[in-house]
Amino acid sequence: MQELIITRETRLAEAVTDAERILALDELVWVLRTVEPIRALALSEEAVSLARAQPNQPGLAPSLCLAGVCAVILSRYEEAREALNESLTLSRRLGDKATEGRCLHYLGAIHNVLSEQPAAIENVTAAIHIFDALQDLESLGASYNMLGNIQFSLCDYSGALEWYGRGLEARERAGDQVGIAGSLGNIGNVYGERGDLADALVFHQRGLDQAIRIGSTALEISSLCNLGGDYVDLRRYEEGIAVCRRSVELGETLEDWEKVAVALTSMGFAYAKTKRRTEALECYSRALEIARANQLQKAEAHSLFSIGEILLSQGALIQARERTAESAALASAIGARRTEFQSFQVLAEVCKRLGDYAAALGHFETFRRLEKEVFTEEAEERAKSMVIQMEVEHHRREAEALAGINTALSEANAALSEANTRLEALATTDPLTGLPNHRALVAALDAQTARSRREERPCALLFVDIDHFKSINDIYGHPIGDAVLREFVACVRACLREEDILGRWGGEEFLILLPGTGPERALRVAERVRSSVAAQPLLVRDGGGAVKKSLHITCSIGSAACPPQAATRDDLILAADQALYAAKRLGRNRVCGVGDVL
Ligand code: GH3
Ligand code: MG
Ligand code: MG
Repeated sequence: MQELIITRETRLAEAVTDAERILALDELVWVLRTVEPIRALALSEEAVSLARAQPNQPGLAPSLCLAGVCAVILSRYEEAREALNESLTLSRRLGDKATEGRCLHYLGAIHNVLSEQPAAIENVTAAIHIFDALQDLESLGASYNMLGNIQFSLCDYSGALEWYGRGLEARERAGDQVGIAGSLGNIGNVYGERGDLADALVFHQRGLDQAIRIGSTALEISSLCNLGGDYVDLRRYEEGIAVCRRSVELGETLEDWEKVAVALTSMGFAYAKTKRRTEALECYSRALEIARANQLQKAEAHSLFSIGEILLSQGALIQARERTAESAALASAIGARRTEFQSFQVLAEVCKRLGDYAAALGHFETFRRLEKEVFTEEAEERAKSMVIQMEVEHHRREAEALAGINTALSEANAALSEANTRLEALATTDPLTGLPNHRALVAALDAQTARSRREERPCALLFVDIDHFKSINDIYGHPIGDAVLREFVACVRACLREEDILGRWGGEEFLILLPGTGPERALRVAERVRSSVAAQPLLVRDGGGAVKKSLHITCSIGSAACPPQAATRDDLILAADQALYAAKRLGRNRVCGVGDVL
C-alpha cells in the first residue's frame, strides 16, 4: 500500500499539464481514501477545482465522484451527496459508465447509513448492473458487499450472508486481496450477530490469515478485535486474552486507538470472568485513559461502567458508586442507552450495599424504566426493519414478476412474428411445388411492370401450360400427376436465371417473369424451357427416391414483353395468355409470341 501511494505521489509530482495533474490526483485519492481520508478529500477538492477551470470540464465527473467518496468515508454525508449527485448527472450525460456506477454505489452507501434502505438497495443494484456490464469485478465485489451491509442493517442475516458470499466470490475472481479480507470479516460479523459463534470464529480467523498474508496491519488489528470478541463470547477466555493482547500491541503501533480500546475492553471482560480482577481493572483503566485522550465517548462510558462493576465485586463501594454515577451521566449525555441502564442497575446495587435504600430504590426504578424503554426501542427498531425488509422483498417480487411478464410478452411477440412469417409464407406459397402462388405472382407482376415503366427497362412474361395434363391424371392417377408437376417445375427452374421468377398460376399453368428481358430474348428463354421439358423424360420417384415412372410430357408457352407489347400488368397477362392460346391452337409443344396471335 505504502509503495503504491509513493508511486502515485511521484506521478503527481511529475504531472505537467492540468489534465495530467487532475488524473494523477484522482489516482492518488483513490488509494489514499481509506488510509488518509482527510488528505484524500483535500486532494480531490483540488482536482475538482482544476477540472472546473478546464474547457468542457472533461475530468470533472470522476473527480467530483472521488470527492464524494472521501466525504462518505469521513461521514460528511450532505457534502458527499451533493458531489455524487452532480457527478452522476455529468457522467450520465457523458456516458461515463464507470463513474456513474461508482456514484450510484456510494449514494447507496449514504442511504444505508441514513436508514433509507429501499433507496440504498435501488442505487446499489443499479451500480451492480453497470459493473456487471463493464465486467469490473472489483467494483462488483464491493457493491455486492454493500448489499450485504444493507441487509445486515435490516437484520436480515441470511440475506446479508448471501450478498457477502457473492461479494467474496467476485473479489476472489478479481484478486482483490483487501476486499477479500473485508468480506471474510463481514461474514464473521453476521455469524457473530446471529449467535453462530463457531462459524464467526472460522471466518474471523480466515480474515486474520488473509490480513497477515497481504501484510495489512490495519486489517490485522480489526480481525484480531473480532476474533478476540468471538473467543470471549465462546468463553474461551485464555485464547481471547492472547488475541486481544496482540490486537492492543498492533493497535498501539498504528495508533488505532478505537481498536485498542475495544480490544482492552474485551480483554478486561475475559479477566473479570476468570476472577482476575486486578488485571481486569488494569485493562479497563487503560481503555478509559485511551478513550478520554481520543474523545471516544462511548468507550469512555463503557469503561467507567466496567470499572464500577469490578469495584463493586471487590467491595470498593464508594469508588464503585463514583465511577458508575459518572458512567450513567456520560452514557445518558451521549445516548448510549444500554450502558446507561446497566450503570443504573449497578448503581442501585452499590447504594443498597451502602445502606442508602432510598437512593437504591430511585436508581432501581430508573434502571427498570430505561431497560423497558431500550427494549421497546429495540423492538420497535426491529419491527421497523422488518417492515422495510418486507417492502424490499415486495419490490423485488414485483420487479421479478414484471421481468417475468416482460419475458413472457417478448416470447409471445417472437412467437407471433414467427407465426406471421409462416402465415405470410403460406399465403404466398403454393404448397405442392413450393413456388410463389397466384397471389404472389400478381404482386410480382405489379412490381415488375411498375419498375419497367419507371426505369424504361423491359420485362417479359411466359405463360406455360402443360399439354394434355388431364390425361396424365386419368391414366396414372392424381398422386402421380402431383409428382409430375413437381418434376416439371424442377426441369423448368433449371432453365432460368436466379432473378427470374417462376410461379404457379393455377392447376398445370405456370408463369415465368423475366426481369430486364425484351421480346426476342423472352422467346429464346421460352424455347429453352419448351425443348428442355420435351427432351428428357420426367422421372417420378417414390418416397424412398426410387424411380417409379418415367414420363414424357410437353408444354406450350405464350410469350409477351412489357414494353413494347403491353403497358400494364393485365395487358401483359392477356397478351401472354393469347400467345399461349395460339400455341395450343397451333398444335401444342410450341412457343408463340404476340405476333403469332391468330
Ligand atoms: P391442354 O393441353 O389443353 O392444356 O389440356 P389439359 O388436359 O392440360 O388441360 P385441362 O385444362 O383440360 O386440364 C387440366 C388438368 O389439370 C385438370 C386437372 O385435373 C389437372 N390438375 C389441376 N391441378 C392439379 C393438381 O394440383 N394436381 C394434379 N394431379 N392435377 C391437377
Ligand atoms: Mg390449362
Ligand atoms: Mg394443359
